[in-house]
Amino acid sequence: MNWIEKISKKLKPKLDNLFRRKSNIPDNLWTNCAACSDIIYKEDIENNLYCCTKCQEPQQILPRQRFEILFDEGKFEELETPRLSSDPLHWKDITPYKDKVKTARKKFNQRHAALVATGNIKNIKTVVYCMNQKFLGGSVGIEEGEAFVFACKYAVEQSIPFIAFPQTGGQKMQHSAYALMQMPKSIIGLQMLEEKGIPAIIMATSPVAGGVTASWFYGPSVFVFAESEHTKIMFAGPNVIKRTIGEDLPDGFQTAGYLLKKGFVDRIIHRKNHREELSNLLSILLNLKNTQATSSLDATDENPISSQQTLSA
Ligand SMILES: [Zn+2]
Repeated sequence: MNWIEKISKKLKPKLDNLFRRKSNIPDNLWTNCAACSDIIYKEDIENNLYCCTKCQEPQQILPRQRFEILFDEGKFEELETPRLSSDPLHWKDITPYKDKVKTARKKFNQRHAALVATGNIKNIKTVVYCMNQKFLGGSVGIEEGEAFVFACKYAVEQSIPFIAFPQTGGQKMQHSAYALMQMPKSIIGLQMLEEKGIPAIIMATSPVAGGVTASWFYGPSVFVFAESEHTKIMFAGPNVIKRTIGEDLPDGFQTAGYLLKKGFVDRIIHRKNHREELSNLLSILLNLKNTQATSSLDATDENPISSQQTLSA
């Protein structure tokens, strides 16, 4: 054994220990802001409601993270949505679609791209439909569409406000016409809320695209908000539009800030103000609804004929 071998033999255990210690350090402590690209300590982002600590831009988050920061004390109850086929056409490209669904389910611990939960926002009970774009693009198929209607029905049954957080690429190609059928179905869900005078709020989170933009995002009697002026809201992608019309698109095209100026978005509400502003709006709308119901009862007392007229009408 020469001197080099002797030294390396002595040093080897120490080097092994050194690298073992290094390998115990998690490699996911840092992340890049999606807007300003700054490198941020993950814990700082989490403590800042998952917003960049430098530019304050809200980062994309998962439904359960959304529920935790939205509901009082982070408490909520997940509601089980109807179980339907996740692969009605037995779609297969490189791999069978059912295998992709299986992998996504395991990764995110959710059955499909949307979760429905109920909880309080400053003591106002609400039902929230929240999407996850990381779950196969957040695409809307049979189960996501049925879950939307389920959440609307729940809001009607419980007489509580409905809030949706879309985050999606649009309808699920692998469900073909079944996916397209979810568009009118979701509108019917919102109509049920409208008929009962139940508040419905859509809060856009990047991105909102395709069939969702073309259906329930601009559904009947909904308030359309976005959590950032940079939130992407579109039907087709910018390159497709550019090629089709053969013109350059205006600055900020397909962002919530641009759509706010054009009247397609009602208000930008930063994530940090969601609880405050949503609860304020809901309390006004619910008080208005109760006042209308009371005055309607009073009117019936004063003039019983009017109720008959209403019924016959
Ligand atoms: Zn940033």
